[in-house]
Amino acid sequence: MSDPKLPPVYDPAAVETARYRFWLDQEYFKAAGDDLRTPYTIVIPPPNVTGSLHMGHALNNTIQDILIRWKRMQGFDTLWLPGCDHAGIATQNVVEKHLAEEGVDKEDLGREGFLEKVWEWKDTYHARITKQLYRLGVSCDWSRERFTMDEGCSMAVRRVFVDLYRKGLIYRGDYLINWCPRCHTALSDIEVEHEDEASTLTHIRYPLEDGSGTITVATTRPETMLGDTAVAVHPEDSRYQKLVGKKVILPLLDRLIPIVADHYVDPAFGSGAVKVTPGHDLNDFAIGQRHNLELIKIIDEDAKMTAAAGPYAGLDRFECRKKVVADLEALGLIEAIREHEHSLGHCQRCRTVVEPLISRQWFVRMKPLAEPALAAVEDGSTQFVPPRFTRIYQNWLESIRDWCISRQLWWGHRIPAWYCACGELVVDYEEPQSCPACGGKLEQDPDVLDTWFSSALWPFSTLGWPEKTADLKHFYPTSVLVTAYDIIFFWVARMMFMSLEFMGEVPFHTVYITGLVRDSLGRKMSKSLGNGIDPLEIIENYGADTLRFTLVTGQAPGNDQRFRQESVEAGRNFANKIWNASRFVLMNLSDQEDGTVDFTLYDPEVMLPRLIRIDRWILHRYNETVRQTTDLLEAYELGEAARLIYEFIWNDFCDWYVELSKYFLYRKDEPDAGADRNRTRAVLAYVLDGMMRLLHPFMPFISEEIWQQLPNRREEALVVASWPKPLEEHIFMQEATEMLLVQEVARAIRNLRSQVQLSPGKKAAVIIHAGGETARFLQEESHQLAKLTFAEPLTIEPAAVKPKQSLTAIITDGLELFLPLEGVIDVEAEIGRLEKELTQLQAEKKKTDGKLKSEGFVKKAPPEVIAKEEARREEQAARLTKLEQRIRELK
Ligand SMILES: [Zn+2]
Ligand SMILES: [Zn+2]
Repeated sequence: MSDPKLPPVYDPAAVETARYRFWLDQEYFKAAGDDLRTPYTIVIPPPNVTGSLHMGHALNNTIQDILIRWKRMQGFDTLWLPGCDHAGIATQNVVEKHLAEEGVDKEDLGREGFLEKVWEWKDTYHARITKQLYRLGVSCDWSRERFTMDEGCSMAVRRVFVDLYRKGLIYRGDYLINWCPRCHTALSDIEVEHEDEASTLTHIRYPLEDGSGTITVATTRPETMLGDTAVAVHPEDSRYQKLVGKKVILPLLDRLIPIVADHYVDPAFGSGAVKVTPGHDLNDFAIGQRHNLELIKIIDEDAKMTAAAGPYAGLDRFECRKKVVADLEALGLIEAIREHEHSLGHCQRCRTVVEPLISRQWFVRMKPLAEPALAAVEDGSTQFVPPRFTRIYQNWLESIRDWCISRQLWWGHRIPAWYCACGELVVDYEEPQSCPACGGKLEQDPDVLDTWFSSALWPFSTLGWPEKTADLKHFYPTSVLVTAYDIIFFWVARMMFMSLEFMGEVPFHTVYITGLVRDSLGRKMSKSLGNGIDPLEIIENYGADTLRFTLVTGQAPGNDQRFRQESVEAGRNFANKIWNASRFVLMNLSDQEDGTVDFTLYDPEVMLPRLIRIDRWILHRYNETVRQTTDLLEAYELGEAARLIYEFIWNDFCDWYVELSKYFLYRKDEPDAGADRNRTRAVLAYVLDGMMRLLHPFMPFISEEIWQQLPNRREEALVVASWPKPLEEHIFMQEATEMLLVQEVARAIRNLRSQVQLSPGKKAAVIIHAGGETARFLQEESHQLAKLTFAEPLTIEPAAVKPKQSLTAIITDGLELFLPLEGVIDVEAEIGRLEKELTQLQAEKKKTDGKLKSEGFVKKAPPEVIAKEEARREEQAARLTKLEQRIRELK
């Protein structure tokens, strides 16, 4: 045997860096843009430019890479378009924090100076995340990389904004928005995280203007009463019908406010009457619009009380709450204060309690845009995998409110709107020179757009829109979007309606939803828990292939998975197993003493007649694996596909075929030894080549490394080699069934040997009772069986009877095995050992029986404990029967 080029021990670090460089240098990831080939396109969910690779990215990008590599091998013109998101509020927060550490306030730098700093940071971070993606092995077309704030994407943003504005789908309006007093910006509904918190419900009496009594309202936020402009009751609530239209005196401020009837009010909640604060509550805002109520802003952008709060002006909102309650108490207007759990909104970025505020913001009118986005999913133009996520998408779009898109930040796409002192507003693609109405100086809107505005255009802006580029024509719409379920609202839905509006077509045909990667206990990985696992550390220690394989086998579409250290180690063992088996094969292929190996297995007419049973069997199994793997990938069952490949490589190939092949590889003297050797080499080479192809999308590095050493390869690199197809002429049903039985016999022999603890390697006779066809092919494989199971001598006969003192295994009707023990082990001592075990087991079973008979236990124990005991009893009974039978056999 000559030395193969693979070193004896697999070192992922050495292989991976060099291989990635090789792929990049050869430009294998570059999409051809060839109109004659069918495109397959994925646009990457752009990671935040300030982010670093976490487990969610690792999973998400592994899945995309598997799909892309598989389709590339299938001959599609694949484009995986990479890029980063400027991540407005997240990036601005990060940079502000860094500057604060240096003692710099962004206000001191000014807008231009601050943005310069952010761009510097952007470059540093961008280099970092890109390098991290390289490590994972992603086969993105880096020549087409984009950034949400690059020139082209920024142009697309302006175009969309102006066009929507001109169509009346973007407007500026006073609206109640979610405001973060810390971040000083508006938040969209989904940037607010709601959590249930223990609180109190304060019941306040409002005196009626006519002095005829009071009406009681309940609130979790007593300080907002200062901004009340009505009390509302349900129109059919008989208790209040005669009060509708009357007025109450708002305590503390002595303002008169009306009692209105509105269907929104729940008569069963509290007293059935509610206070209405249109300026600080989303539902009250809606009531206010229906009844034309006045809007009073009592809390400002810093969460302090305004002048409208009268004597409370200047107080923090929470201090004010205490003071209001105390003052009402003093007036005897508090009816009750009760414990109450309620849901409170927090800023997603900084956890500050959100304040609903009236402010002038830009909005996208959602109703007309949502309708086509709903229809496109309804008619199947875009499908979710798994389908249950369709409902989540639909529910959100059906009940959607207008989208507040302006943000009071500096980092982002500045809104293309200019104001003049004369009142003129100009919205345009380019900055206007002067006011078209009065010729005066114009000021641009200081706000930027919600970061998701540019992400919503990602599938077409990255392909060159609004220009009519060749890429846009060829690669749009994209094939599949791979994303986590937590951004269906933020991102998926918005890409849908923007693409339908501007491209007239869905952005992708399939949305593959991934679950979260949780820790081994099922907890979300988080900084505060300190339970995050750094994917880069796993890559460092185990290699990217192992990380990828662990992640993909652990997942099923849409389901969360737990990340376990044991799985990583299993993945590493798999890589080592592949390496060692491949090394063995390559060593034997490179031995040319019998002349050049004839790899004409590719030419079935020449090779097929020469193949023997085990060859036909492994080709059949490989063929099946190709077919099933391809089917599973088509169905997006990536984890199942990976498991299938694992089982084929580990069990069929490494544990069986490689072992069986040794018999033919090492024969020396027989006249046909050379031919046998070459035939076996051809099959080994063929299957190894195919296995590396199947493995490549999942474990790209190790598969390419091994494949490059194959003497029979016909393509220049595995990354661009063809995906295998199942072959009609490689279906060998009969040989497959026969080999299954051979394997079962071998397993049964091993099992019998282990029952009496025969050390591996110790020879022992085996008698097989079999007749007819079965006896014939077992006889043909008897040399292999004997070698694999140390059965010596191995006899196969139709008339075999069970010898005295022997163990039996029944495989099928008419196929039985005997392992005679006389002279092999000390039978008396073995019987003694088994009898001791029997006595012990009987005692254990008695205990279980007793427990299950005891009334105290059966009545008191929870059902799952009883079920466990019942299972134990059954298991003990089964073991008992077996033991007794073995003792009988030995006697
Ligand atoms: Zn905040
Ligand atoms: Zn003007």
